[in-house]
Amino acid sequence: MDGIKILCITGWCRNGSTIIGNVLNEIPGFFHVGELHFLWKNGAGRGVNNLCGCGQALTECPIWSEILPLGRPAGLSPEEYADLVIRRQRACVRTRHTWRVLGRGLDGKALSDHAALMTRTYHAAAERTGSRVIVDTTKIPGEAALLPYLEGVTPYYVHLVRDPRAVAHSWRQPKEYVYAMSSWMSTAYWHGFNLAARAITRRYPRRSLFLRYEDFAADPQGTIDALLRLCGEESAGNPIRDRTVDLHTNHTVTGNPDRFRTGATVIRDRDDSWKGSLTLPARLAAVTLSTPLFHRYGYRYSGTLTTGSRNAEARQR
Ligand SMILES: [Zn+2]
Repeated sequence: MDGIKILCITGWCRNGSTIIGNVLNEIPGFFHVGELHFLWKNGAGRGVNNLCGCGQALTECPIWSEILPLGRPAGLSPEEYADLVIRRQRACVRTRHTWRVLGRGLDGKALSDHAALMTRTYHAAAERTGSRVIVDTTKIPGEAALLPYLEGVTPYYVHLVRDPRAVAHSWRQPKEYVYAMSSWMSTAYWHGFNLAARAITRRYPRRSLFLRYEDFAADPQGTIDALLRLCGEESAGNPIRDRTVDLHTNHTVTGNPDRFRTGATVIRDRDDSWKGSLTLPARLAAVTLSTPLFHRYGYRYSGTLTTGSRNAEARQR
C-alpha cells in the first residue's frame, strides 16, 4: 500500500471547512472527500441528504458507488451495512471518545474494525481519483484522532475555528438539507468540539496548524499556501488569484450546501453578517458559553452589544 497524506480539518461545524476543502480540491493530486464520516449513512438514505457534490446520488456517483460496497459482509444489505457502520461510529469515535483514542489507540474490536474500514476507504478514494492528498472535512475529533492509527496514511491537522457569533448565526438559518440550532446549543458544541480538536493538535504539534476562518477570509491565497506547506506540498498549485478561485465539479460526501457551486467564486473578505441579524440574547449566549476559548482565539466583544440595523428596524415597527 503506497502512503497517502490526509489533510484533516477538525473543529465545530459551520466553520467554513467546505469552501476551504473545495479550493484545495482544485489542486492537482488533491481530492476533497467532504465529510467522509457520513458516506455510509447518506449512501443508504439514512442521512439528511444522499447527493454527492457531483449532483448524483452517492449510489450513482462513479467514485462512491464503487467504494460504498467495499468491506460489506456477504449477506448484509447496503442498509444493514450502513447501520453496522453507524453503530460502530457511535460506539468509538464520537467527540467524547477523542481523548481515549489519543491515549489508547486501537483499543477494542469496534475501533479496530472502524479503523480498517477507514483505511480501506481512504486508499480506495486515492486510487480511484489518482490522488496523493485526501482532504477530509468531517471535523468530528474522534475520527481525526484515529487517523495516525490507519495503515499507509500520514495525517495533517487543521484546527479550524470561526467566531462563535458567526457560527450561531449560521446555525439559526435552516438551509436546504441542514437543520437549525439555537445559539446556546451551537456554542456548547463549539466549545466541546474545539477542546477536543485542541487535544489532537497538542498531541501532534509538528503536523498541525491552528486557523481562524476570519484569517482565511482576510488572506485566502496566503492561507492556502500555509496549508500546502503544512503537508509538504508546493505552493505552485495554489488555485486562488485575487481572492478568486474557479471551482469545478467535486465529489464531496455532504458539507455546506454551497458545495454544489461551480465557476468563478470570490472569497469574501468580511464574515460579520451576524451583526445585522443575530439577536442580542443569542450574541450574549455565544460569547458567554465560548469563554475562555473566545479570548484565547483572539476574538473580541466588539459588536456584541451593538444592535444590528435589521433588529433596530424590527423594533421600530
Ligand atoms: Zn460524485
